[in-house]
Amino acid sequence: MSLEKYSEKRDFKQTPEPKTSGKNLKGELRFVVQRHDSSRLHYDFRLEMEGVLKSWAIPKGPSMNPSDKRLAVEVEDHPYSYRTFEGDVPEGNYGAGHVSIWDEGAYYHTEVEDAKAGEKTLLEELKKGSIHFVLEGEKLKGAFTLLKMKGKQEDAWLLVKKDDEFAIHDAYDPEEHFGKTVAKPKKKSGSISKES
Ligand code: MN
Repeated sequence: MSLEKYSEKRDFKQTPEPKTSGKNLKGELRFVVQRHDSSRLHYDFRLEMEGVLKSWAIPKGPSMNPSDKRLAVEVEDHPYSYRTFEGDVPEGNYGAGHVSIWDEGAYYHTEVEDAKAGEKTLLEELKKGSIHFVLEGEKLKGAFTLLKMKGKQEDAWLLVKKDDEFAIHDAYDPEEHFGKTVAKPKKKSGSISKES
């Protein structure tokens, strides 16, 4: 259901992006950050919830510095199988440009460790506009908050790093960490049931 917008925007005869949803067969929730070199470079931040990837486009990319508040524009849900997508969306298509995986890993709600219960809490927080979670990525680690901005455009959120033992207090530019590419998640260990 929630993938209608995703499908509407894309012509699967032209783009190599995944068409079907795929399924997480593991007990944990996953996140991915994709560097998207489209007309304007941005980072797509995606959190698995209810079988799809809730998604935000972050123009400046995520930061490990708690004093950075990174604008994160909520975009359409993506299929779970998008988690492993890397490649080129051809010219003339929605989001034309190169997509590469910048970081990925498991994530969970800050206070609710159990994945099932945590997912329920995450969904409630998504509706309320204040999501609290811990990322276990290669680059992004520790607690973060996604906060919906008040009185602004409907889709505007802020991604902020919590000040914990993983925080980096120096200037943080995700571009400096590009190239240290995260290995593409193996389908075997994760999770894609099918892709057409
Ligand atoms: Mn994008």
